[in-house]
Amino acid sequence: MTDMAQLKVLKFGGTSMGSADAMKKVIAIIAEESASERIAAVVVSAMSGVTDALIAIARAAAAKEDASALIAELETRHVQAVEGLVSDEYRAEAVAMVRERIESLRRVAVSITDAGELSPESLDHAMSYGERLSAHILADALKSHGVDAGYLDAREVIRTNDAFGAAIVDFDTTDAAIVARVAAGSRLLVVTGFIGKTADGRTTTLGRGGSDYTASIVGAALSASVIEIWTDVSGVYTTDPRKVKEAFPLESLTYLEAIEMSYFGAKVIYPPTMYPAMEKKIPLLIKNTFAPKDRGTVISEKSAANSGFAR
Ligand code: ADP
Ligand code: ASP
Ligand code: MG
Repeated sequence: MTDMAQLKVLKFGGTSMGSADAMKKVIAIIAEESASERIAAVVVSAMSGVTDALIAIARAAAAKEDASALIAELETRHVQAVEGLVSDEYRAEAVAMVRERIESLRRVAVSITDAGELSPESLDHAMSYGERLSAHILADALKSHGVDAGYLDAREVIRTNDAFGAAIVDFDTTDAAIVARVAAGSRLLVVTGFIGKTADGRTTTLGRGGSDYTASIVGAALSASVIEIWTDVSGVYTTDPRKVKEAFPLESLTYLEAIEMSYFGAKVIYPPTMYPAMEKKIPLLIKNTFAPKDRGTVISEKSAANSGFAR
């Protein structure tokens, strides 16, 4: 068994995974961070906009509309990411993986059209393709950079009930599976965020924005020293920095403050994310992939003295 005390879990969101160029920044961050501490797992979102596109595809299929152009766009985007990131050694296999998965998505669309309706179960299945593509591509890209990386489909470890669209996690089964699969090896695993599986093998999702939650579940199961959420802004701000120019990042927050803020609209972090981390007292660090030197926000048991605000 490897030493579990000193390992961390990183999560990269949709903008961070949004293109080959963005993923290059992700790879640089992973390379730098792994020099100081072991990264057990990197949890990723789908490339930005892909989950929305998958929903549009599923709806179009149910309405018996033609979704082939939307599917072709997804195929092109993922093949381009592979071409920009994956070395000759792994490229043909990576492109074949994308094409196979897209082919399988086409079959899902056909089955939705045949059913004539979009069940929550079929929608979750369709949405799962985004993370299954992005995580596989990042794993291949890391291998191309000489990192001993592997791909892990979270459905192999995250067990949920069948509340499709916002499934509830069975932590006993899930935690044991994560320890067995992730802690046992020395490889860095790139894990699909957002998705899980019922006991009888049906695909579920954890709710929109749920990749943050996946990272927290994995980090808590491994008793990680920190769970880093890498996104497209430099932490949790006083209010949405894309909407309010005067917003500024908070240096630190307690779990309870973060829960409160996230429920009241700070959509930077998915609310359930705080619970697994809080139970194990693992700090969550919110960082910016596009400004990695910025300090970011720490969410832990204590906030900074007085205001906790840092300019
Ligand atoms: P990711 O794809 O990395 O998960 P999200 O889009 O889910 O990223 O969350 C990051 C976005 O959250 C930011 O781009 C920002 O516009 C928005 N946001 C809303 N409220 C806040 C806030 N209080 N602090 C920071 N970001 C916020
Ligand atoms: N890709 C999923 C979504 O768009 C999960 C996530 O990004 O956290 O909701
Ligand atoms: Mg998010």
